[in-house]
This record gives sequence, C-alpha cells and structure tokens, in this order.
Amino acid sequence: MTDLHERPAYREQTGPALTDDIWNAIIANDAALDGRLIYAVKTTGIFCRPSCKSKPPKREHVRIFRGAADAAAQGFRPCKRCRPDGKGMPDEEWIRHTAKWIEAHYAEPLTLAVLADAQHASPYHLHRTFKRLTGVTPAEYIAATRVEAAKRRLKETGETVTEVALRTGFPNAAYFSTVFHKRTGLSPTAYRQAQEASGSYPSKKRTEEGRSC
Ligand SMILES: [Zn+2]
Repeated sequence: MTDLHERPAYREQTGPALTDDIWNAIIANDAALDGRLIYAVKTTGIFCRPSCKSKPPKREHVRIFRGAADAAAQGFRPCKRCRPDGKGMPDEEWIRHTAKWIEAHYAEPLTLAVLADAQHASPYHLHRTFKRLTGVTPAEYIAATRVEAAKRRLKETGETVTEVALRTGFPNAAYFSTVFHKRTGLSPTAYRQAQEASGSYPSKKRTEEGRSC
C-alpha cells in the first residue's frame, strides 16, 4: 500500500448552509432531500446522500453541497454505500483511503466495526474487499501498522514498553509483546537492545566506550 495520496486540504464553506431541516433529514435518513443536495464529512473525506444509512456524523464536521460534482471538486469521495454520484468510489481508491485512514488512527481502539463505520460499508464487505486488494485482512494491516509505529518509538524514544504499547493502540504490554514477537521474532526489549547495539538508539548517551555488549 504505497503511493498513498496526501489528504486534500478542504476549502472553507462556499455551498448552501447546514440548516436544521437539512440536519434533521440527515440524522433521520430522510430521502426527501435526496437529489437536491448532498452532505460531506470533513473528518472522513466522504460525501453522502441525506438518506444514507451510515453512522451520523458530528454536525460541526458536515458540509453541504448542491451536487456530487461540487463535493468531488473539493476533494471529497463518494460513499460506497449510498453512491451519491450514481456509482460510488472505485474499490481500489476506497481501500487505499481505508489503509491511509488506519495509518492515521492506529493508536485508537480500532475494530472492524469501527473501521467499517468510518469507511461507510458493512464489516463483511470491507473485510472481503480489503483482503482481495491488499492480500491481508484489515486486522492484519492494523497490527502491522501498529508494530511499525512501535518499532519507531522503541528506537527513537526512551518510553517504557508499556508506554509504547499504549501509544500505538495496544490495550496492554502483554498483548503488545505477543503481537510484536509474532511479527518480528523479537520481544520489544530485545528489539530495542538490538537497535542500541547497532548504534541507532539516540536517546541514551554513549559514554561507556569500553563496555562490552
Ligand atoms: Zn453514504
């Protein structure tokens, strides 16, 4: 999953205002306004029909557009579920965006359900499409992303193993150590010592020149 595009910089509101009527239609999945406007969510970068069954966004993150073309021109992508542009996002783009989202949110408690909500799809469909296009499941991709982040922290910071675990999305040090060992063949402490021995652990002063290790 390389060649991930940068998150677009969304410009400020220029379209219709988010009135209470529009907001009520969005949270009620009311189809009355479908075809007249669409809403985009700044935090997910996705736009939907007012009737979309996706989890309701926070009101302050919503932007209203007159149509799909306006939202797309501002860098938003069409929802897979309600297909506000008539076709929805291509699978490749959707999964690339999902991987990018994982890379930005790996430190949070992620489940397949949380991921599917954020990406506007059923957990089953997301799991199947992600595996088909990347060769790994979302859970495996999350674990790999967390372990890579943990390796960086072990190498570049003086944080304890527990601190590294909690800051990279693991619930505790024991589970972190199990996953880390499975993917790298080393415990977190052994990995850090190996980095230290190879001279790439900058947070500790190397004053003991004669020390053998
Ligand atoms: Zn939608």
